[in-house]
Amino acid sequence: MKPASPKSTADRPARSVCTWYGLRAEIEVENEFWHLVRVGRVSLPHPPVVNLILRRGLPPEDRLRLSFLHEFGHLQTLPVALAHAALLLLAGRWRGRGIRGTLAALGMALVAHETAWELFSETYAAASAGPDYRRAYRAHPNRAGQALFWGGMTALATLTTLNLLRRRS
Ligand SMILES: [Zn+2]
Repeated sequence: MKPASPKSTADRPARSVCTWYGLRAEIEVENEFWHLVRVGRVSLPHPPVVNLILRRGLPPEDRLRLSFLHEFGHLQTLPVALAHAALLLLAGRWRGRGIRGTLAALGMALVAHETAWELFSETYAAASAGPDYRRAYRAHPNRAGQALFWGGMTALATLTTLNLLRRRS
């Protein structure tokens, strides 16, 4: 559950992690602009959009530590994210939409999945950093970024999920 000690090179600190369900991966939170999660031979480099919004104004060490926990949170909460995606696919309203409607619903499912997973990951990061999380944001308030993330993601995830699950009246 705990990340192993960092095996780092000077500019690319990669950390080996093992999730609670046994998935081994490497996470590189290289800098504020580029993150990498590697599972086996599959690399998923991505721009840390969420971390840029949420970590604005935090000192580098807080930013990188919380960003690492967020990335690890994606792996730790993967089963929950997959369960949410399965719920959308199995219980969602997919019939009778036509091609355009189905494509729109697929887009909505993708947004629902992504935004929900961001919420799961950041919740994991906050829970795992514990009082440190509150301390960091109390010392360096980022109300706009936090409101944008928690408010925006919650609204998007809820609206898209409910829309897909709603029965046609
Ligand atoms: Zn994320």
